[in-house]
Amino acid sequence: MYIVMIASECAPVAKVGGLGDVVQGLSRELETRGHAVEIILPKYDCLRYDLIHGLHITCADLWVPWHGNAIHCSVWFGFVHGRKCFFIEPHSQDNFFSRGNFYGYPDEALRFAFFSKAALEFLLKTNKRPDILHCHDWQTGLVPVLLYEMYQHVGMSNPRVCYTIHNFRHQGIASDNILAATGLQRPSYYHQPDRLQDNFNPSAINFMKGGIVYSNFVTTVSPQHAWEARYTDQSYGLGHTLYLHQGKFGGILNGLDYEVWNPEIDSLIPCRYHIGNLDRKYCNKEKLRERLWLRKEFKPIVTYVGRLDQQKGIHLIKHAIFYALQQGAQFVLLGSSPEAGINEQFWQLKRQLNDNQDCHLEIGFNEELSRLIYAGSDLILVPSIYEPCGLTQMIALKYGTVPIVRAVGGLVNTVFDRDYDLRPFHERNGYVFNQDSYQALESVMHRAISLWYNYPSEFCKLMISGMRYDYSWNHPGQDYLNIYQHIMQN
Ligand code: ADP
Repeated sequence: MYIVMIASECAPVAKVGGLGDVVQGLSRELETRGHAVEIILPKYDCLRYDLIHGLHITCADLWVPWHGNAIHCSVWFGFVHGRKCFFIEPHSQDNFFSRGNFYGYPDEALRFAFFSKAALEFLLKTNKRPDILHCHDWQTGLVPVLLYEMYQHVGMSNPRVCYTIHNFRHQGIASDNILAATGLQRPSYYHQPDRLQDNFNPSAINFMKGGIVYSNFVTTVSPQHAWEARYTDQSYGLGHTLYLHQGKFGGILNGLDYEVWNPEIDSLIPCRYHIGNLDRKYCNKEKLRERLWLRKEFKPIVTYVGRLDQQKGIHLIKHAIFYALQQGAQFVLLGSSPEAGINEQFWQLKRQLNDNQDCHLEIGFNEELSRLIYAGSDLILVPSIYEPCGLTQMIALKYGTVPIVRAVGGLVNTVFDRDYDLRPFHERNGYVFNQDSYQALESVMHRAISLWYNYPSEFCKLMISGMRYDYSWNHPGQDYLNIYQHIMQN
């Protein structure tokens, strides 16, 4: 099969969160199974260029129709971790992808509408005819719309589209003027409740809704989140659209690329280890303490790694820092937010806790430090308000760090409470709490920290049962292939 991924992120060169990991990991799995996979990305100025191999211009003169005119683009090719990536670079005063950051600009919808258009134009002009286009999140929601309304009539009748929603919160809500820029004339045709009209803001269009309506199959990133999206408010207004398209909607748990996330081979951690020599994990704990100036005491390290977004339960994270310290644990946080206000809250907290030798808050994005944290901590907290899949808990499990999670989304599908889950004991791998409340958080943290102090051998068993789980791309890779086969036949 010939599959083209169109996405706004691909780890490690363009990674803001889990989307980047998924595009990279799924592509690798599909290639390992013998399929041809190519990835199309914007050529941001803030790509990790040091991690792209053999970068060169492969198509110097791509003219992308835009606003009745055309924008001149160069398309670059390079390998990212062995994956074949194309990077689209527009040469226009809009400066779509040369702004220092991946996201966070007022013309976001325009930037990614252009990217979607340019990706299809590139495929058309270079005579690439994939069997499958796999699009991700709102940024590429217009791809299936453009494909079925325009490009299939000019020679691209082959591709079928699988559309994966990683986060329903951001949907790409914009004015319908944007459609005309892409060449989709007749705004009134698209601006209908059964097409792109936003379900709550009738004067706007919604890219993600377009992706759902026009794709051949729609997935979200865990079975539990698929259920939540259909039956709760977690699809942020798209529940009815999913209901109408329920026959082509499902949840597939994300996988983790164990070539990238594996303490046995991770070259970025000081001491590699596996289930058979878990004591070596503690050498990473020492190194983590040295690096972050934490004192060397007999204490568990509780950690948080992730974006600092309301979605992640900011109030619970803050509360957990103080509760962990009070319970005799150390706390390490690594995270950042695109919102200056949230970052500032954490900078204030950092200043407040500056002299505390049991606590370190690192505000920023640092992949290498994240790995040392996964390897060197005892417990990791994921107290999300909603969590479509969540990779941090899966990474932590692989690194023998016991997760404490809130029972939402993919966290429900991956973490099973040591004390209360109904599965056999050896299948339980962490701690789970339900309520979005300080009491529930304290109770679960108390259970986890007490086990660490009072029953170390039991804690060790919990670490090992987590490390034994297989959350690789093996199963989800096959699930996606089944979907591709299905939509190619229908
Ligand atoms: P989301 O996609 O909502 O951000 P996920 O749990 O699916 O959350 O994925 C988060 C990924 O991003 C993980 O690989 C995590 O290690 C990484 N990550 C998040 N924040 C940081 C950070 N500040 N520094 C390094 N890695 C981070």
